[in-house]
Amino acid sequence: MHHPPILISTDFDGTLILDYTTSSLAPRFFKCLQKLRRTRRVVWLLNTGREWSSLDEIFNTLAMPCHPDWLALLEREIYRFANRQPVPLSHWNRHCADTHRDLFARAAPALKQLRRHIAQSGIAEVIPDDASPYGIRANTPADADRIAAEAASLLADFPEMMLMRNSVYARFAHVDFHKGSCLATIAREEGVSLQNIFAVGDHLNDLHMLHPRYASHLACPANAEPQVKQAIRAHGGYVARAAAADGVAEALGHFFGV
Ligand SMILES: [Mg+2]
Repeated sequence: MHHPPILISTDFDGTLILDYTTSSLAPRFFKCLQKLRRTRRVVWLLNTGREWSSLDEIFNTLAMPCHPDWLALLEREIYRFANRQPVPLSHWNRHCADTHRDLFARAAPALKQLRRHIAQSGIAEVIPDDASPYGIRANTPADADRIAAEAASLLADFPEMMLMRNSVYARFAHVDFHKGSCLATIAREEGVSLQNIFAVGDHLNDLHMLHPRYASHLACPANAEPQVKQAIRAHGGYVARAAAADGVAEALGHFFGV
């Protein structure tokens, strides 16, 4: 083991998986992981907006040669993954829960007003969300942009609140908790330095971690949102020619020669 350990942070939907009818998850990505592990310690973080039960179902359905070492769920909670069970990083998750409880309580009247507005908008609907007072599903990406702009103005008194967007979906979050801060926390736990961190994602909720503050090696697959590709290029990262997991494998090849 002559090389320093690396930390690989991957989004899930749209990044490791596009085709949900497949029987084996991301074979080329796992091949890269295996090759990298011949010469160094590799920590893999699955950094997703999903909650555990839906991920568990996928883990049980799809063939995967190994599991992640860490999970960041709902874009904010951190779990070490041991014996196929998520074990919470308690101090972080407690602080995260307290912060959100406090913020959502203080902003309750404004959130209620926005909720009414969305319900009447005709371009989006309010949906249940485990991590937010409610979630939002817009009819189209353009509608999602409009709702986000309206939410920003209705919640102007709460600069610590952000709308965490992913495709036409959105949930509310405190600005301190996102895929980037989760990645930084896990890097500290693992003792991996910034220059040995790789992050890859395809959508708006990945933008927080696709930043030089959190990873030195930044990438997105070919199917990434235009805004994500733009950010990757602006930071000198790698925009893959291949989609989803094949693009992730391509990016790992680019940065680490596998
Ligand atoms: Mg995604």
